[in-house]
Amino acid sequence: MRLGLAANRLHHHTEDAALFRWLRACEPGIRDLRLALHAVGRTHDAIAAAGMLRGYDGLKRYPYGRDGGLMKLVAEVVGLEGAERSLDGAIYFIDPVDPSSIFPEATALKRQCVIHGKPFLSTVASARDWVEMERIHAGLAPDPNADRFHALESQTLALIAHDAMKPQMLAFADAHFDVLSRFAHRMATGTTGLRLNELAWSRGWPQDVPWVERFQSGPLGGDAQIADRVLEHRCQRVIFFEDPHVARHHEADIQLLERAVTTVTDEAVCTTSLAVAKRWCEAVNKRGILVGAT
Ligand code: PGA
Repeated sequence: MRLGLAANRLHHHTEDAALFRWLRACEPGIRDLRLALHAVGRTHDAIAAAGMLRGYDGLKRYPYGRDGGLMKLVAEVVGLEGAERSLDGAIYFIDPVDPSSIFPEATALKRQCVIHGKPFLSTVASARDWVEMERIHAGLAPDPNADRFHALESQTLALIAHDAMKPQMLAFADAHFDVLSRFAHRMATGTTGLRLNELAWSRGWPQDVPWVERFQSGPLGGDAQIADRVLEHRCQRVIFFEDPHVARHHEADIQLLERAVTTVTDEAVCTTSLAVAKRWCEAVNKRGILVGAT
C-alpha cells in the first residue's frame, strides 16, 4: 500500500509536531504493513532530519510543494500509467490557518481522494486510526495504544451525507447499525438525521428515542453547529459522505467543518469515503473479537 504524505509547516516544524506524534505512534505499524509513504520535499526532509523511519525504503521523496510535489500526489491518487504511479490515498496534516492548506492542489488532493473512494487523512487521529484499521485487516495483533479509537461507548459520532449520497449513508448505517449504535451519542445534519432516525425506528429502535440528535440542515448551518461540538471536544468522529460532483451553496460551511476537525488533530477522526467507513466498521468488529479473546 502507498499513501501520499504532506504536512503543513506547523505540523513538521518542531520535535513534537503532528507529523512526529503520528510517526512515534505508528512507526512499528508502518513497518509491519510495509506502507510506502510518498512524501513531499519538506515533509520528507523533516522526517529524515528527525532521524525517523531510518533505513526504511518505503519512504520516497517528492519535489517541494513549490516545485509541484503536492500536484504530483493528486495525479497519483487519480492514477497514472503503471502501478508505481498510483497512490491508495493521502495523509495531509492540515494547519487550518496555513494559507497553503487551501491552495487548489490541497483542495484537489482531498477531492480526488473522495472521488476515487480513497482515504484522505487530515488529522493525527485519522492517520493513527487508519493504521490500526489496516493492521487489524492484515491479521496483526491489536495495538493497545489504539484502544481509544475503539472506545466507542464514550464517544460521539457525527453523520452527514449530501443528497446524492444519502442512499449510501442509509445503506451504510443499516449494514453497520450495531457498530454505530455503540457510540454514546450520535449527531447528524437535519435531513440526514431525519432519514437515519426513520431507519433506526424501522429497525426497532425505541420510538420515543431519536437514534441521532438532529441539527439544522447543512445549507442552513448544521455543519457549523456540528463543528462547534468538534471544537469543544464533544465529538470524536465525523463520517461525512460529500458529493464532489455538484456545486455546493454551503461550500464554506463544509470547509468550516473539515477545518474544525483539523484544529483538534489528535482527537478527531474524519472519514470522507464510504469504502473506508465500511472497512473501519469491519475492523471494529474484528478487533473487538480479538481483544475480547485475550
Ligand atoms: P442535510 O445536510 O443532512 O440536512 O441534507 C447535509 C448537507 O447537505 O450538508
